[in-house]
Amino acid sequence: MMLENQVALVTGAGKGIGKAIAIALASEGAAVIVNYNGSQEKAKETVSLIQENGGKAEAIRCNVADFNACREMMDDVISRYGRLDILVNNAGITKDNLLMKMSEEDFDAVIDINLKGAFNCMKHVSRQMIKQKSGRIINISSVSGVAGNAGQANYSASKAGLIGLTKTAAKELASRGITVNAIAPGFIQTEMTEVLSDAVKTAAMEKIPMKKFGEPEDIAQTALFFASGNAKYITGQVICVDGGMVM
Ligand code: NAP
Repeated sequence: MMLENQVALVTGAGKGIGKAIAIALASEGAAVIVNYNGSQEKAKETVSLIQENGGKAEAIRCNVADFNACREMMDDVISRYGRLDILVNNAGITKDNLLMKMSEEDFDAVIDINLKGAFNCMKHVSRQMIKQKSGRIINISSVSGVAGNAGQANYSASKAGLIGLTKTAAKELASRGITVNAIAPGFIQTEMTEVLSDAVKTAAMEKIPMKKFGEPEDIAQTALFFASGNAKYITGQVICVDGGMVM
């Protein structure tokens, strides 16, 4: 197995894309920390699914927007496992509105979770990865961060910021054996997109050359590639997994 004896932490892994990533990493032998904030039952289900298939997993609650809580989570994991090999910053929310109508609260909430949450986790894990002289950080951005998207000023800014954070961290950490890459999903079928109106879904479909929405597993397989030895010479990159939506 590709990730035997490795320890991975996936934020927001109780459902959707994070859940698929946790399952994929565990299927290759990694012990997976399933982080959640509100969805405790779903996180427990992810853990059970992994364990039923012979994998190793545990659930840990932490609001990634909370700087000190992230430090405590990382310290706890590192003290008990002795290492952390793979960090996937997947936790994210949307609070869509036109720029003109967007509240300060909705702008701040999205930036705090999607962008600062990734910074919090990366900062608190970087010392350990430097000590190990190895590590893989994978940030889940979005095509909205690459190309922009009307109605998502907060979300696009957070996801574009995540790309800047990815490239900067990649430059800072490359000589220490740590790679940092980002995945920019297009339209993936999860709870996040389920709530969108039929009109929004139809408009999104029109922009997808492959004429179908993606599955969480499409993102999970890309994350698995970045986490694996097959991607050892790749850092600071952003790969769009979007059926050709942005090219
Ligand atoms: P989802 O089903 O709504 O899942 C979002 C996850 O984020 C949940 O597990 C949630 O956990 C977690 N989360 C939210 N706030 C958190 C916090 N403060 N601390 C820790 N975890 C938190 O959405 P998804 O589609 O799987 O999205 C996963 C990632 O992919 C997000 O970053 C999203 O922006 C990105 N993405 C998705 C799409 C898409 O089409 N679906 C496209 C591009 C990018 P709790 O419920 O426990 O709070």
